[in-house]
Amino acid sequence: MFKHDKLNVFLFLVLVGLQVLGLIALWTRFQWSYLPIMLVVYFWAGISTTLYLHRYLTHRGFEMPGWLKFFFATGSAVALSGDPVTWVGDHRYHHLKSDTDEDIHSPVHGFPYAHMMWLVRKPPGFRDRSMRYAADVRKIWYCRLWERPYFYVLPHLGVAALLYFTLGGVGLLWCLYVPMLVVYNFTWAVNSICHMPSLGYRSFETTDHSKNNFWIGLGAFGEGYHNNHHAKPRCAAHGLRWWEFDLTRYVIWTLEKCGLAWNVVWPKPDAEIAVDPVTADQAGALLLFGAHIKDPRLDAKRDDAEHGQ
Ligand SMILES: [Zn+2]
Ligand SMILES: [Zn+2]
Repeated sequence: MFKHDKLNVFLFLVLVGLQVLGLIALWTRFQWSYLPIMLVVYFWAGISTTLYLHRYLTHRGFEMPGWLKFFFATGSAVALSGDPVTWVGDHRYHHLKSDTDEDIHSPVHGFPYAHMMWLVRKPPGFRDRSMRYAADVRKIWYCRLWERPYFYVLPHLGVAALLYFTLGGVGLLWCLYVPMLVVYNFTWAVNSICHMPSLGYRSFETTDHSKNNFWIGLGAFGEGYHNNHHAKPRCAAHGLRWWEFDLTRYVIWTLEKCGLAWNVVWPKPDAEIAVDPVTADQAGALLLFGAHIKDPRLDAKRDDAEHGQ
């Protein structure tokens, strides 16, 4: 299946290379003056992925001012988390096809595949599908611009140059590539570890294998409560119980209190017992995007089924 698709050697080397830069830092001399910068980069990169790419852009769980969207979008580009159109398209498709053969980052295809290898072995046509599923994101000028890799890498190169010329090579490795290594692996762990039948717990009987995992929640700013998220995709909170620590939820709550976030989809009082049916493609599309998605292949499949083929 997807595993046999052509390996994107260039992207594979880039993803491995970026992580190796983070690992090389561990053999160089750490200075305590790096720590505040590392935490800022870790927070900016992490929250940009969870709050912006995921809870805002993919699921539209709230609204916020344009300048704040751009600030978070830039954070995700600095960390090279994936251009927004591709990220959103791929993730929406994951919600529609979770843990089926068509879900390319499910552990049903093996752990390495669910964690990182899906990024470098995408089937032909996946890109077109992502563009279709993220048509709304393509209307945002900087998201459209960043579909071109040479524009997308500019924020990363800008921050890397700034750190290199102020802190030197070692400072650059510690302050940029170590936080990126951590953010990458926690983000990928949401796809891999939080879909493994043997790890974590379930609060909702969803049709996929999603799990809640406290430790992934801690490192990935609350995204580890992935079973809660699959049950309530648009909800701006993933941690629902008081001990399900969800940093992204608290940031969105703070923004709302400051008037910088509105129309927030907060959990309803019955959120812990009610589960939305997300089995049918159309129901999933309605839930995720609030509109019907026209995918000719789905229609073709339905026609085939109706004609008994
Ligand atoms: Zn998932
Ligand atoms: Zn999601």
